Amino acid sequence: MFTNSPTQSITLWDKQIFVKRDDLLDTHFSGNKARKFYHFLVNDFPHIKYIVGSGSAQANSLYSLSVLAKINGWQLDYYVSHISEQVKSQYTSSTASQTNYAKSLENGANVLAIDWQRQQFSDCEHLDDAIEVLKPQYIERYGDKVLFVPEGGRCEFAKTGLKQLAAEVLEWSKATKQNDVVVFLPSGTGTTAVYLNQQLALLNASNDIKVQVATCCTVGDESYLTAQFSQLVDDVHLHPIILNDGNKYHFGKLYLPLYQLWQEVQQSTGVEFDLLYDPIGLSVLKHHLNNPIFADKTVLYLHQGGLIGNQSMLKRYQRKLAKTNVRK
Ligand SMILES: *Cc1c(COP(=O)(O)O)cnc(C)c1O
Repeated sequence: MFTNSPTQSITLWDKQIFVKRDDLLDTHFSGNKARKFYHFLVNDFPHIKYIVGSGSAQANSLYSLSVLAKINGWQLDYYVSHISEQVKSQYTSSTASQTNYAKSLENGANVLAIDWQRQQFSDCEHLDDAIEVLKPQYIERYGDKVLFVPEGGRCEFAKTGLKQLAAEVLEWSKATKQNDVVVFLPSGTGTTAVYLNQQLALLNASNDIKVQVATCCTVGDESYLTAQFSQLVDDVHLHPIILNDGNKYHFGKLYLPLYQLWQEVQQSTGVEFDLLYDPIGLSVLKHHLNNPIFADKTVLYLHQGGLIGNQSMLKRYQRKLAKTNVRK
């Protein structure tokens, strides 16, 4: 269960590209977060009753953690900096309950906004600091029954599922006789890209296939991403290649040219990609497709799921487009 996603061939910008469809791993537990939280599915945690996570109220990781908690019978407390009125209204309005936030509440998650006015958080700058303040309180109350999961699954545990993904990629490469493969995926924290590259190198120690991971930033810049890689994998030779398309993007911001590119890809291939990370990934891929990094190699794009989040992104794009059209 939750393994062996299919690989599909598409033609994009006159080149054959393979897509590893991790969005199809499972209807409820899919994509990149399913890989990162796989560890908690295949190992037993008999003493755990509570999990504590943090991040954004619209994040894919919130939804995946809520599914994981439900499967295991755990109570999830998920902390966020802030819940906007718009996000809250997504839960109350019956037409738009298909968001990460709404579906997580349905799964029984407690989504809790930090009350930054409180004395105990007065020295905190970031959400991570607030979690550090809360940790001892959880441990005092629940002892070893509580498990803390860092934001976005940025932790050692992620290695288990990414080793499995690396094995699937190598198996596919061998079965289809692809011997010079570049796996491309957009990064947030970089956890997926760096562990995937590391595990591919370890599993392919005899080097019978040339396989390399390339990625791009969607959060912060290249120095942020490199620092994230180094936190998880010391050996810089095992870090993925970082590419860009010459533009700087801010995470979660709307870019109409990227939206158009995303639409073009959907129309020409029939594959729906995510609207938060993939538009940047697809733009960087297009930019470099004829460069040595990709030319003459087998390109395998990793579809990392996240499609539930598309509903709210599509609404935001439609509002932006409506405003742009009025101005014209
Ligand atoms: C979380 C996520 C990413 C980023 O993964 P990292 O491991 O943080 O780099 C990319 N795409 C989708 C769809 C995601 O949900």
